[in-house]
Amino acid sequence: MYKINDNYQKLPGSYLFSNIAKKVAAFSEQNPDADIIRLGIGDVTQPIAPAMIEAMHKAVDEMADAKTFRGYAPDLGYPFLREAIAEKDYKARGCDIDISEIFVSDGAKSDSGNIQEIFAQDNRIAVCDPVYPVYVDSNVMAGRTGVYNEKTQMWSNVIYMPCTAENNFVPEFPKETPDIIYLCLPNNPTGTTLTKDQLQMWVDYANKNGAIIIYDAAYEAYISEDNVAHSIYECEGAKTCAIELRSFSKNAGFTGVRLGFTVVPKDIKCAGVSLNSMWARRHGTKFNGAPYIVQRAGEAVYSDAGQAQIKEQVGYYMNNAKVIYTGLKDAGYQVFGGVNAPYIWLKTPENMTSWDFFDFLLEKANVVGTPGSGFGPSGEGYFRLTAFGSYENSVRALERIKAL
Ligand SMILES: *Cc1c(COP(=O)(O)O)cnc(C)c1O
Repeated sequence: MYKINDNYQKLPGSYLFSNIAKKVAAFSEQNPDADIIRLGIGDVTQPIAPAMIEAMHKAVDEMADAKTFRGYAPDLGYPFLREAIAEKDYKARGCDIDISEIFVSDGAKSDSGNIQEIFAQDNRIAVCDPVYPVYVDSNVMAGRTGVYNEKTQMWSNVIYMPCTAENNFVPEFPKETPDIIYLCLPNNPTGTTLTKDQLQMWVDYANKNGAIIIYDAAYEAYISEDNVAHSIYECEGAKTCAIELRSFSKNAGFTGVRLGFTVVPKDIKCAGVSLNSMWARRHGTKFNGAPYIVQRAGEAVYSDAGQAQIKEQVGYYMNNAKVIYTGLKDAGYQVFGGVNAPYIWLKTPENMTSWDFFDFLLEKANVVGTPGSGFGPSGEGYFRLTAFGSYENSVRALERIKAL
């Protein structure tokens, strides 16, 4: 008689986005004329820019000709893409990353969920609170997180690092020493980030304590301030303690196209074993490569035309972020984020709960956002708005919020 992986049974239901959808549908039914503006989504809305579309069309045509047809891609990704990444994302920023340290994948969600499997089950993970749910849930599935407490919404074997206005959303070194530290910077959901000096302290902490940092840099393209690192490898010593995850989803609009990569430096060794070799083995056994057509689109992201076009697109979203941020400030809200990330994180007024504010905003302004408590207990009393909508809707939504 077979048995299931019981760890899956431990996962608390993730009702956040289905609850939002249900509430919006109910409101919409009762108020059929309401013009609802959605600023809750964490997905891009602008079409993929021409340089990448052109590269994909060309690659599709190559597939139609026996002379240029491609079958399985190399496990770790095509050299043309990995070379462009090594050159433009790393060498250009003074980071010495070799192409043999770059693993092309179908996105940062799978990599951030899969990376935990090369570590022993008795490692303790540390996460920021609030947090992108994949880091914790993938460790729950692997049986690494202990017992869930419904009341505190915390796992007994997870170290939580609260990020709130009180500490400027900068995680503090935990009392207990973690083995694996997840950092997402710039951060989803808070839209805040660390300076390079603050990040350096985490790199030093990890090296000193024999911990590894899983560094999710999915929002790297949104960084606008000079004192913020675009890669953790800009910090000294990161090549012995950090794995970096990158995605083409938010910088180039590839959420539906699917492309990302992970960097595992060869200097990371655990008792003489190379994590780079382990990840290569995992990749080779469980992943058959990102599509050729998509990797050509990824290559085009690094072309001069591609760079100019994605910069414009990121600029479009960041202009929305500014509209939302300044609009909320003008309306008297306490607002965070929005400068190095497409997320605006606000303190709910008059100590409303995140869900009370969700209802209030939906009913009074017909604007949909995301309750902060959905990302972890320390998100209670906060609310997330995203800059991924249209400019027109961002402006209209803020006019309504200001009029409340
Ligand atoms: C959107 C997002 C990603 C990107 O995931 P993909 O699978 O590459 O689309 C990764 N991490 C965080 C925190 C995100 O918000």
